[in-house]
Amino acid sequence: MEGVTGQEVAEQNSKPKIAALIPAAGSGTRLGRGPKAFVEVGGLSLLARSVACLRPYVDEVLVALPAGLFLPDGVQVRAVEGGDTRQASVLALLRATDADVVLIHDAARPFLPARVIREVADAAWDVGAATAALPVADTLVQAKENTDWGTLTPREGLWAVQTPQGFRRASLLAAHESANSEGHAATDDAGLIARLGQRVALIPGDARLFKVTTPGDLALAEAVAAVWDLTAVSGE
Ligand code: C5P
Repeated sequence: MEGVTGQEVAEQNSKPKIAALIPAAGSGTRLGRGPKAFVEVGGLSLLARSVACLRPYVDEVLVALPAGLFLPDGVQVRAVEGGDTRQASVLALLRATDADVVLIHDAARPFLPARVIREVADAAWDVGAATAALPVADTLVQAKENTDWGTLTPREGLWAVQTPQGFRRASLLAAHESANSEGHAATDDAGLIARLGQRVALIPGDARLFKVTTPGDLALAEAVAAVWDLTAVSGE
């Protein structure tokens, strides 16, 4: 390796291999437009947008798809078949990579700022687990009988959890396997780590990382897509 210093070789060897894992095997029932990852905003599927944002910062991208479906046109990544739940889809993805660090990201959050990706990946390696999250800005109230104002809940110290969530792969795999063997179901990977008493760092996320869930979110996503520069791979 002519021209490469010992220090550069050492740095290369200590650099973790990073994989982005995208569970995209949901049915998108609440949106009512078929599998959500395939829904387009601004002419591109939610999945293609998530892949384009993550790819410059990772060594590989893997996607879990619903059984019988193929990747949308123009999305060139490795795909595995997802499971019946998000948790099962993530486990299938974890078993399909040997990366040191994994960034789990919902396809339904198509706008990822570069800063968030970098900070979650760095903290995942340093701390073991990290998630994007935003301090709650709204007043929170526990509803009474689902229709009326019930009890105010102080919002101080409350964060709304987003993705990407980053982990040392071995830790997350162990957490998934222990949740499975105990029949514990979770909608969130960081929660599986926290449940074992391990630390999860909170990384300030971004309002644009909202999850496209309802038709109203889709209208918002169309508006963001109109000003989101995919070629700048940043959103900053
Ligand atoms: O349904 P929800 O919006 O919470 O799903 C979050 C993410 O998990 C979506 O990107 C969805 O495609 C994915 N998912 C999955 N496998 C399932 C259910 C959901 O990969 N069985």
